[in-house]
Amino acid sequence: MIPALTGTVWFVGAGPGDPELITVKGRRLLEQAGAVLFAGSLVDQAATRYAPAACLIRDSKDMTLEEMTQWLTEQAHQHQTVVRLQTGDPALYGALIEMTRPLTAAGIAWAVVPGVSSAMASMAAAGESMTLPEVTQSVIFTRVEGRTPMPPGEDLAALAAHHTTLCIFLSITLLHKVEAGLRAAGWPDAAPMLVVHKASWPGEERIVRGTLADIKQRCRDAGIVSQAMVIASPTLGAAGWDQLVRSKLYDPAFTHRFRKAIT
Ligand code: SAH
Repeated sequence: MIPALTGTVWFVGAGPGDPELITVKGRRLLEQAGAVLFAGSLVDQAATRYAPAACLIRDSKDMTLEEMTQWLTEQAHQHQTVVRLQTGDPALYGALIEMTRPLTAAGIAWAVVPGVSSAMASMAAAGESMTLPEVTQSVIFTRVEGRTPMPPGEDLAALAAHHTTLCIFLSITLLHKVEAGLRAAGWPDAAPMLVVHKASWPGEERIVRGTLADIKQRCRDAGIVSQAMVIASPTLGAAGWDQLVRSKLYDPAFTHRFRKAIT
């Protein structure tokens, strides 16, 4: 008896939007794919650009979770390589586990290929760094409460109390809550803020810089109401600072495994 084909479902991070920001592995899997299920308008470009002409390409925007897992299961019985293409990295706000559990239950193999998150692409677009020596050495990926409740202890005021870099997803329409959270944690009016709309999208990316006091108005003036990353960080604007603490790694006076200090 010929065993029934069970291909693998690959959860591939498509990156933030620029089709060139998918990984080499993600692109190879798309080129081999028999079926691709993609998540909305942000990633259709990569799917249509790299998948073979005969590949079945389906947008998941009108599907329920049950319909998606059923579709992926059916396709895995017909194709060796099935791709679920997601924006940015699949492990961030991507309903990943909700999709992998039913596949495991159905005996379908699956694996994840990471992607460039929009948080990274937003900082890259603005030429900013998430960490700076003696300023902040930590990054928090979060969101404010919308229809998805925040677990206890994760409200923005509590997280912002660390005064570290905050990459705030899914919150461009909730800037009033972002502002309230930062203020409650003692961030001043002049705290620099960055909003990037469609980071990395060729010709569509927009960067808005402002402060805690004016970022909401600046975004309103720019008409930015969707697909945007909100970043609050004490590192923003460092390219123009007079004083900067140098990182030890490249400091001539610092010895490490690969280089002796110049004295
Ligand atoms: N997994 C994705 C995030 C999905 S949640 C990632 O790693 O990037 C969707 C949210 O991501 C949006 O509300 C927005 O805050 C952010 N986002 C996705 N793509 C973006 C882009 N190109 N530019 C700016 N923000 C983006």
